[in-house]
Amino acid sequence: MKIASGIEMLEISSIVMGKSSIINPTLLCDNDTVILVDTGNPGQLPQIREAIEQTGVAFDRLNMVIVTHHDIDHIGCLSSIRKELPDSIKVLAHKEEKAYIQGEKRPIKLTLFENNRNSMPEEMKAIYEKVKAGYRNCRSNVDKTLADGEELPYCGGINVIHTPGHTLGHICLYLQKFKTLIAGDALFVESGMLVKPPSFINFDMDLCIKSLKKLTEYNIETVVCYHGGLYKNNSNQRIAALANE
Ligand SMILES: [Zn+2]
Repeated sequence: MKIASGIEMLEISSIVMGKSSIINPTLLCDNDTVILVDTGNPGQLPQIREAIEQTGVAFDRLNMVIVTHHDIDHIGCLSSIRKELPDSIKVLAHKEEKAYIQGEKRPIKLTLFENNRNSMPEEMKAIYEKVKAGYRNCRSNVDKTLADGEELPYCGGINVIHTPGHTLGHICLYLQKFKTLIAGDALFVESGMLVKPPSFINFDMDLCIKSLKKLTEYNIETVVCYHGGLYKNNSNQRIAALANE
């Protein structure tokens, strides 16, 4: 779905724990740079490639991936994208996420699973093993780390906003020219409403709220959520309300 000139919200269908859902990586293009923000689940490269080409952009023009955080549904195709485009692709992420993405630290969600392993039903144990293997297969080098407040000179200027909470190095991206926030998992859309991510999937809920407060410093018209898609109904007021709940 076209959000503005050079911004496309991709819609990739996937099955998560038996339920079908749509996830939304974002594609950002200007003359020289094509950026994919988040990369879907392991095995979804064919769908991502197709979704990119449907926007009229050749897949091999892709030269950058920005990862909002290291959860499996965001880094799932990192290593396969790098394999396809070994000479051109650069992977960027917040410095707190780097060791997880490179496979040097155990992903936060695996630790959560691991802590509950004994009380887990057999089918959850099977899912856990699958997710664990997925993390092992998608690990990738991070070529450049990002810091809070950094401005990237693409697509009219992209502000990196460090929004810890969901994970420690979670980032949102603010596209100044388009007053658009790529929220990653800092915000969800459910039944047409902008909401906080469910607390059981967050590393630290208090940090999540602090990060929402930080987002109120930006003038946001459009929000792109990885889970739930597009929101553009008085976004500033809605984010402020969520930060003060
Ligand atoms: Zn997610």
